[in-house]
Amino acid sequence: MSQSVSMALDHVRQQIRTAESQADRPAGSVRLIAVSKTFPADAIRDAVAAGQQAFGENYVQEFAGKAAELTALGIEWHFIGPIQSNKTRIVAEYAHWVHSVDRIKIAERLSAQRPAGMPPLNVCLQVNVSGEDSKSGCAPADLPGLAQQVATLPNLRLRGLMCIPEPTPDSDLLAARFRTLRSLRDELNGRGLALEELSMGMSSDMVLAVQQGATMVRVGTAIFGARDYSHRQIGN
Ligand SMILES: *Cc1c(COP(=O)(O)O)cnc(C)c1O
Repeated sequence: MSQSVSMALDHVRQQIRTAESQADRPAGSVRLIAVSKTFPADAIRDAVAAGQQAFGENYVQEFAGKAAELTALGIEWHFIGPIQSNKTRIVAEYAHWVHSVDRIKIAERLSAQRPAGMPPLNVCLQVNVSGEDSKSGCAPADLPGLAQQVATLPNLRLRGLMCIPEPTPDSDLLAARFRTLRSLRDELNGRGLALEELSMGMSSDMVLAVQQGATMVRVGTAIFGARDYSHRQIGN
């Protein structure tokens, strides 16, 4: 197990490095977030032993359990899943980053619940770049207003945008979705914000995302293997 995670990590890092260099981007400009949802704490320990520092989780209860169990490892936690408003406190207390903020109510709660003494919570706004095909994410038309509001919240630090395009084998379409996210970020920066991050790309499309300017890729399957949801309880 340990060896397979570390070999898979090496392979993913190599793919990212190659994509960076082919896109004429400096080595190290893309941060790898290892998405560990559904995998046990031991799989995370293996990845940490192989030099991985940043991990992504989707489900609030599972995240809380792992974060509490693994505090000694100094992990940088990225919460990347849907957030219900009654679950914001755990995310505000344990996460370093949240990629999936798509409405002001959630942002306000995260800011209000961020414990005193902790640094501001880094936030990316999730944008629905696929139109009707996807349910989560803020509509592009609503993004400027949301971004301006989130930027004023005291305990959040607005860092960038995130997207999950609709699943498709069409790489031209995926590339277009990633370009959309990038131009939305650039437009916001033209209106006075200073957003650097583009969280886009997963196991199947991370190379494409790096070509289009991703600064963070969220990779699960290519590191930990296929997920088994059969034991998961319903709920978040
Ligand atoms: C599960 C998940 C990932 C990782 O997907 P893989 O295809 O396993 O790499 C990335 N981002 C989000 C938001 C996810 O939920």
